[in-house]
Amino acid sequence: ISKRLENFKASIFTHMSNLAVKHGAINLGQGFPNFDGPEFVKEAAIQAIKDGKNQYARGYGVPDLNLAIAERFKRDTGLVMDPEKEITITSGCTEAMAATILGLINPGDEVILFAPFYDSYKGNLSMAGAKTKGITLRPPDFGVPIDELKSTISKNTRAIILNTPHNPTGKMFTREELSTIASLCIENDVLVFTDEVYNKLAFEMDHISMASLPGMYERTVTLNSLGKTFSLTGWKIGWAIGPQHLTWGVRQAHAFITFSTSTPMQWAAATALRAPDSYYEELKRDYSAKKAILVEGLKAVGFTVHPSSGTFFVVVDHTPFGLAKDIEFCEYLIKEVGVAAIPTSVFYLNPEEGKDLVRFAFCKDEGTLRAAVERMKEKL
Ligand code: GLN
Repeated sequence: ISKRLENFKASIFTHMSNLAVKHGAINLGQGFPNFDGPEFVKEAAIQAIKDGKNQYARGYGVPDLNLAIAERFKRDTGLVMDPEKEITITSGCTEAMAATILGLINPGDEVILFAPFYDSYKGNLSMAGAKTKGITLRPPDFGVPIDELKSTISKNTRAIILNTPHNPTGKMFTREELSTIASLCIENDVLVFTDEVYNKLAFEMDHISMASLPGMYERTVTLNSLGKTFSLTGWKIGWAIGPQHLTWGVRQAHAFITFSTSTPMQWAAATALRAPDSYYEELKRDYSAKKAILVEGLKAVGFTVHPSSGTFFVVVDHTPFGLAKDIEFCEYLIKEVGVAAIPTSVFYLNPEEGKDLVRFAFCKDEGTLRAAVERMKEKL
């Protein structure tokens, strides 16, 4: 294995899902819905395949999808983007982030990450040869430690990676936090790569896109995908939105990673993004109900549940149950209780910082959530 990847372990999501299958555990670990995406989107994909939309797509996207994303982004943020020059379709947001980092970061560049962070960011930064600096968000509110940010950011910083709503904590960056980060980025000439795949799962406050803050459009790449909003995580349709001078790097990297993304799924994605408002409202209503079941359940079981404003995750403190480390606790939970969760220590530069916290996902039907809570009530 190459030096740039030799220090990484196998994906925690795969590991926990495999263990869940082996022990017959209810999987509230890996974040994928156990229900299907909407019929009208599936029909659109079938139709596209039947219509012969099956050869390579244009490298930076099927034109109608570039357009649908620009329309959606305008409605969400007020920003008018050029679908042809400022939007690139990728194979999921994971590829969008990889292409953004590989296309815009030089070896030795300093990049700031907020911990806990989604695991692929660090892998991408290592592949790009970046120097990674971490700033830890701490419970209960996972607020941005402004003084620490000020002392970490400098003229040597090339980029900050943001994720809001935030996986794994469910934290949403407030306007005050984003404004402070923005002014530091402008002052120090820093780029922002912002993963907003959970933007439609915002329950307690409105989602704010960094790109919409004054002075930020020209230094921000906004990443999103279809998977979470349309319960189609296996389709792997994502995108990167940014000004032309940044898009150029993203497209060059994308051209050499995958070249282009699945054609019929892009056609169907364009149909999905034009869903009426009622679709998005219903999604949020359904998820609010699921969230309430899980959060109330976890509290009744005896966990300290940290507030989650968005995403389909919630993070809890497991230490009331007497085990020292998150990984140990998750293995016990799968083997002895029959429920899978995700240990968070793998999302920190210093794993010690995450040892008390585990993440549960509520992107499951209500019966599954209730059954998981019952198992924990009985056996924990
Ligand atoms: N994004 C999902 C999660 O956080 C799944 C990740 C994966 O399987 N790589 O759980």
